[in-house]
Amino acid sequence: MAEQNFPQGQLMAGKRGLIMGVANKNSIAWAIARQLSAQGAELAFTYQGDALLRRVKPLAESVGSDILCECDVTNDDTMDATFKTLKDKWGKIDFLVHAIAFAGKDQLAGSFIENTTREGFKSALDISAYSFVDAGRRAAEIMNDGGAMVTLTYLGSERVIPNYNVMGVAKAALEASTRYMAADLGPRQIRVNAISAGPIKTLAAAGIGSGRHMFRFNKAASAMQDNTDPMGVAGAALYLLSDLGLSCTGETHHVDGGFHAIGMPQEGPLRESMPD
Ligand code: NAD
Repeated sequence: MAEQNFPQGQLMAGKRGLIMGVANKNSIAWAIARQLSAQGAELAFTYQGDALLRRVKPLAESVGSDILCECDVTNDDTMDATFKTLKDKWGKIDFLVHAIAFAGKDQLAGSFIENTTREGFKSALDISAYSFVDAGRRAAEIMNDGGAMVTLTYLGSERVIPNYNVMGVAKAALEASTRYMAADLGPRQIRVNAISAGPIKTLAAAGIGSGRHMFRFNKAASAMQDNTDPMGVAGAALYLLSDLGLSCTGETHHVDGGFHAIGMPQEGPLRESMPD
């Protein structure tokens, strides 16, 4: 992805916003940040702890950003400090990108009913769904009317994906939260949407059991017979966060090569491999 050129333009000129969820150059949030920057946006970033600062700082600098806030979404003090920094530096913001999820590795393998613990459930829902509600409320307090928010979700919310388990439940909560947030903020013309991306090789994806099979299956069974390109996800975020997306809110938009649309694969190697 590093070599790819993002379409340049002025669609985000004059807009400022916060990107939550860059861990490294493979992060979906980083593809989105690069696209928004290429269209003139001014960006601030959060990072989760000192270990990630080393990776996030040079990325932020490469798009001219000097607002870097340490933020763990389970820690109210760091959330308060992040939004205070934005208020102090900018006064107002125009958009929020939320690309944060977590579940313990033990929760992301094997049987959902057997392996999901109370603590694992609470932590996955807290970090992966409630954090969008919390960040969205704080962002709305300093957001210009007409602003926009985007979060990242996955098809495991709608259908069973092996090993995705409690994260699928968290993504269902995230998508429902997106709709409720859209209703609350709609009168201020603030739009809230989710992008349902197909599998992309990132740190978070590496935590899911049988990830390799997931990529192969997605490629074989999607309409486009290919894996999801982060550029497409970044393009969708640009549409939803810019004025191109006017009147679109409360939506879960799939960017997955059409995988979600397929009920049964077309004739081809996947079908040939089935036993009679
Ligand atoms: P990533 O590992 O690059 O990003 C995940 C981010 O979540 C990291 O920056 C991490 O620091 C952050 N995070 C986790 N716990 C946190 C906490 N307590 N406080 C603050 N930050 C925390 O992986 P990614 O794949 O780019 O994930 C971004 C989003 O995209 C996630 O919501 C993920 O579920 C979603 N998504 C990923 C895929 C995929 O295949 N990679 C597909 C669909 C949706």
